Amino acid sequence: MSKKSVKDISVAGKTCLVRVDFNVPVKDGVVTDVTRIEGAVPTIKYLIKEGAKIVLCSHLGRPKGEFNLKYTLKPIAAKLSEYLGKPVLFAEDVIGPSAKQLKAGLKGGDVLLLENLRFHKEEEENDKEFCKALSEGIDVYVNDAFGTAHRAHASTAGVAQYGFVKTAVSGFLIQKELEIMGGALDAPKRPFVAILGGAKVSDKIGVINNLLEKVDTLIIGGAMAYTFLKALGKNIGASLCESDKVELAKELLQKAKVKKVKFLLPLDNKIADAFANDANQKVVEGDIPDGWQGLDIGPKTIKLFTDAVANAKTVIWNGPMGVFEFENFAGGTKAVAEALSKTDAVTIIGGGDSAAAVTQLGYADKMTHISTGGGASLEFLEGLELPGVACLNEK
Ligand code: AMP
Repeated sequence: MSKKSVKDISVAGKTCLVRVDFNVPVKDGVVTDVTRIEGAVPTIKYLIKEGAKIVLCSHLGRPKGEFNLKYTLKPIAAKLSEYLGKPVLFAEDVIGPSAKQLKAGLKGGDVLLLENLRFHKEEEENDKEFCKALSEGIDVYVNDAFGTAHRAHASTAGVAQYGFVKTAVSGFLIQKELEIMGGALDAPKRPFVAILGGAKVSDKIGVINNLLEKVDTLIIGGAMAYTFLKALGKNIGASLCESDKVELAKELLQKAKVKKVKFLLPLDNKIADAFANDANQKVVEGDIPDGWQGLDIGPKTIKLFTDAVANAKTVIWNGPMGVFEFENFAGGTKAVAEALSKTDAVTIIGGGDSAAAVTQLGYADKMTHISTGGGASLEFLEGLELPGVACLNEK
């Protein structure tokens, strides 16, 4: 079932409440990373061109439900106006007199940014009265903040969920996330390979479970791999391990067998005698000696994983293959990123650390899609319905 986007409705002359993700780093009143602002621009420009009256809203940081100048969205209004080539009005509040007055005075093509939604605790509580106030004078709700789409907050779902705004559609950012990630999960070009890494199995149980229903090959690297290696009876030394998840790891390995999914784990590891970049280090195959911990995958594993990527037609990647923050243990993560940059397959990066790694290495424009939401993309890969998507109108 697909959801309507801004292109499926008429917005001319309509007042549109647009939930964007302007949760950007700000230092001394200056925006230090504009990626998310740039991400929101296509939808805003489209709405301007169509003559909509645009009311933008977002959260920034964690102001805990009260006004805090440190988290004001004011500097973002100035920055955004540079991208749009026109003034962006700024309301000093969210549902107060400033917002009301400015909203009422909007003409077609005007852009207004409301103050930080999280200055009201009712935003995260999805409070019905707050949703009603936020919807006052609004004809159309547009959600373009994928990063918060897994949250049922007032601005991410409530205004539409409660029926205060009947017309609810996605912006281009969310539309792209749904089309590409949804397309890969529903009708992937095969072989379909998923690569999961990072710290904890417990964070990704749902994702592994769901992907085992869909993929041809599941690759596990990073610290997560050691819980699985332990489940296979290997000695993992002092590597990170979730002892209470070893039984579950056995079940997941069994499920892979039943589903005929290839389950690839590290054959060799780069190990260290302490959790430090300059610890003593070596590569071992198979068992890891006591007192040593695996901090990265070894060269044989890099070959195994990158060969699987080279033969794939669709690849989804979430989570680093090792402690990539340490230069000496970043090799596995870099090699996977490089392999993804070289393939013609559909390549999807599921937010968070892997997105940062791909971007830092300069491969961002080589990927089919880099998700703009870490938590949201994980929940999407788990097959869960995101509240910020569920509340939108069906096509
Ligand atoms: P996550 O947030 O679950 O994606 O985990 C990312 C974190 O996992 C990064 O900070 C990595 O340093 C860490 N990590 C990856 N591999 C290992 C490992 N072998 N040992 C310890 N930490 C790891």
